[in-house]
Amino acid sequence: MFDYLIVGAGFAGSVLAERLARALDKKVLIIDRRNHIGGNAYDCHDDHGILIHRYGPHIFHTNSEEIFSYLSRFTPWRQYQHRVKACVDGRLVPIPINLDTINELYGLQLTPKGMKEYLDSVAEKRERITTSEDVVINSVGRELYEKFFRGYTRKQWGIDPSELDAQVTARVPVRYNRDDRYFIDTFQAMPAHGFTRMFEQMLDHENITIMLNADYRDVVEEVNFSELIFTGPIDEYFDYRFGPLPYRCLEFKHETHHKPVYQPAPVVNYPNEYAYTRVTEFKYLTGQEHPLTSVVYEFPRAEGDPYYPIPRPDNAALYRKYHELADATPGVHFVGRLATYRYYNMDQVVGQALSTFAKISGKKRGAAAMALA
Ligand code: FAD
Ligand code: UDP
Repeated sequence: MFDYLIVGAGFAGSVLAERLARALDKKVLIIDRRNHIGGNAYDCHDDHGILIHRYGPHIFHTNSEEIFSYLSRFTPWRQYQHRVKACVDGRLVPIPINLDTINELYGLQLTPKGMKEYLDSVAEKRERITTSEDVVINSVGRELYEKFFRGYTRKQWGIDPSELDAQVTARVPVRYNRDDRYFIDTFQAMPAHGFTRMFEQMLDHENITIMLNADYRDVVEEVNFSELIFTGPIDEYFDYRFGPLPYRCLEFKHETHHKPVYQPAPVVNYPNEYAYTRVTEFKYLTGQEHPLTSVVYEFPRAEGDPYYPIPRPDNAALYRKYHELADATPGVHFVGRLATYRYYNMDQVVGQALSTFAKISGKKRGAAAMALA
């Protein structure tokens, strides 16, 4: 007999398992249909002993001290500032677009003020910013939009930026200085021994039972539990009653190269050429020293495992119908990127799980994150 059955051992499920077991002394069964814990943040050593992220690059960053402190109980960190180059017009230039991007691309020597004047002259100001196209054209104009964003976004999402909510391309800012970091959050770090080791520490508790290779449908009739936490796709839980929610899928092609360094940046984006969107070289992220190096190519796909909810108005409307159904389903909590159909980063999912735990436990969120039974 378990107090909670938790479906999915990614961030959402693992944070809740940890909190329920450690802070409320609840008996938890956490299951995953994959053969490992960690969800999409799972990392492992490949055949050559190089630490890789099976489901694409995961870089931890947050502005929340609460979330960073909470996770710090389960891992030491390696400070890491992420940097990305985009392959545009045959050159590798910094993305997010910054002063060096413009100068290198156009052979200029603009100052920050000059860059501002230049972008003001090419930006097409839009009265309302509702789509991903509006965001970019409004700030950098059509030419830079086409060089950096249009092709990448069409490839990544299978639709034009004009059909996607503003929040998608708004993730990538414009900088009028030479700061070439991908993120500017207060806390930017990688778990020193990898994400999987961190998840192992979270779930290492006598109240927690882990069952892998186990689908919810196959397990639900076999186990006794009082409440359910579901972190898989919400439309799947309700047997697609209102039709399937669209997700964007990815195929990952992992390669190992017999040289210490493969490319000049941790991630290289390919907005316009090739079928893949980006190439990640893991050793930059993990700091591992090794004579060989492993990389992953990401190929966006229409079919396959769901990786990204697709933020656009009709999908949000469909999700709202499932959300209403979820609200009317007592004893089941829907948490995480797939269950709440939100384009969330890892820290946001941790925050959402901590809020759910605060609600369940009746504690204030800050106290809920740190409480021990
Ligand atoms: P998931 O990690 O998807 O976990 C859900 C789990 O539930 C899965 O393991 C799944 O197998 C399991 N499951 C689903 N249905 C069932 C079922 N019926 N029965 C049993 N098990 C089930 N975030 C960042 O902060 N930084 C990044 O750099 C970053 N990069 C990313 C790169 C890519 C390519 C992707 C796809 C995402 C990235 N993210 C990044 C986002 C990050 O992966 C998510 O925010 C986070 O992993 C979501 O955690 P989750 O627990 O909600 O979902
Ligand atoms: N994007 C783009 N060109 C780039 C980088 C990003 O057009 O070089 C757009 C694209 O639509 C992408 C979105 O911005 O999906 C968000 O980028 P991010 O790197 O945050 O994507 P994620 O890491 O979540 O896949």
